[in-house]
Amino acid sequence: MQRRPPRTGDAVLDENLRVTPLPTVEDVRAAAERLRGHAHRTPVLTSRRVDRELGTSVFFKCENFQRMGAFKFRGAFNALSRFGDDARRAGVVAYSSGNHAQAIALSAGILGIPATIVMPHDAPASKVAATLGYGAEVVRYDRFTEDRAAIGAALAAERGLTLVPPFDHPDVIAGQGTAALELFEDVGELDALFVCLGGGGLLAGSALAAGALSPGCRLYGVEPEAGDDGQRSFRTGEIVHIPTPATIADGAQTQALGVLTFPIIRRDVTDVLTASDAELVDAMRVFASTLKIVVEPTGCLSFAAVRRLAPELAGLRVGVIVSGGNVDLDRYAALLAPPSS
Ligand SMILES: *Cc1c(COP(=O)(O)O)cnc(C)c1O
Repeated sequence: MQRRPPRTGDAVLDENLRVTPLPTVEDVRAAAERLRGHAHRTPVLTSRRVDRELGTSVFFKCENFQRMGAFKFRGAFNALSRFGDDARRAGVVAYSSGNHAQAIALSAGILGIPATIVMPHDAPASKVAATLGYGAEVVRYDRFTEDRAAIGAALAAERGLTLVPPFDHPDVIAGQGTAALELFEDVGELDALFVCLGGGGLLAGSALAAGALSPGCRLYGVEPEAGDDGQRSFRTGEIVHIPTPATIADGAQTQALGVLTFPIIRRDVTDVLTASDAELVDAMRVFASTLKIVVEPTGCLSFAAVRRLAPELAGLRVGVIVSGGNVDLDRYAALLAPPSS
């Protein structure tokens, strides 16, 4: 376990002892302006059948329909839009198990910035192919023995690149918050909002939006049961580090919350919940059969928790951020297939 980062009001000290102010809803609104005309305003789906079965009104914010297939485009594009001329010319480096890589690669392509992406050898083939397809250079590493942050930092130093981390960056958090901002703008205030949780960029950004647009809304982060570092961190007040968890939710295999995301989550979130791989597959099935949408395992975390908690949510208006839809078709079919005997 690590010590909680020292707080100075609404700022934290980063590892280089620089004071970094925590982003606010004003940063989320500014990100929404930068994203206008570049990101999709994704649809909010509802299903009378889901509402009847769960006894609640559920509003699904469908980021599986976002550009490159996940909300990560929002944070990446917002962060790259804020690069100065020198940083743009030198280029960006990012490390990611998938969606952040594609988001940086696509955003960099749109903005004319060279991109280098550090990806694990076992990243889903579709995610690697998409990253290459957007014109980025890909550097591979071993997720279980090598430290991607160290590799990214070394590349940044060698080539003068700017590192954009997948969640622990003010511009990334602000960009991710625009999904919840749109949800509240479209459907009004909610009683509860459920958000998929890895390193906490999406949850922290959603918290900033919720605090301004739906102040009474309860806010839940949902992470894989096998990687409950977020729940333990939230409940103990210290950032807990774990080994890379084994779960089908490959977008949430993070080892710890961030130095910036954690204090926002501690301050604004109601609780952190978990979902098992079996519950993720059940939710994936409902998405396919009832809502007719393809959702990747990580994107099912939020709805899996709503299904488990349904009796406590009776009669409420509940938001669910469906975070992404990038899953290899063969893997998707295998996950949904009934177990063979
Ligand atoms: C990255 C990702 C998450 C987790 O987001 P964090 O900001 O790291 O908490 C959830 N779902 C999908 C589909 C993702 O790509």
